[in-house]
Amino acid sequence: MKSPLWWRHLKSRLLPARRLHVVNGDSLPRTLPRRDIVLARDDDGDWCIGMRCPCGCGQTIELMLLREVRPRWDLSIDDRGRPSLRPSVWRQVGCHSHFWLKHGRVQWCD
Ligand SMILES: [Zn+2]
Repeated sequence: MKSPLWWRHLKSRLLPARRLHVVNGDSLPRTLPRRDIVLARDDDGDWCIGMRCPCGCGQTIELMLLREVRPRWDLSIDDRGRPSLRPSVWRQVGCHSHFWLKHGRVQWCD
């Protein structure tokens, strides 16, 4: 279930920044952390981000980092280890959530 917007704004302000977990291999873990972001890395480098949709629906979001795929995202990690993604994430199915991940925090677009 998608939480109301005011609740999502409040949560992203009050809760600590989401951290990045790195896993090695060519697949994401079957169970993703409730809030944190998972980076999958194999011999060729970083290839995919996995996270649960922060709206409250809990659906898995997979974002490709590979240069040759579309759509794709850029991951940056600040000096405190907090992840940012570019461009924004916009789910085309289910909850249709639209948000940015900046310095480990979700910024809602709706
Ligand atoms: Zn959602």
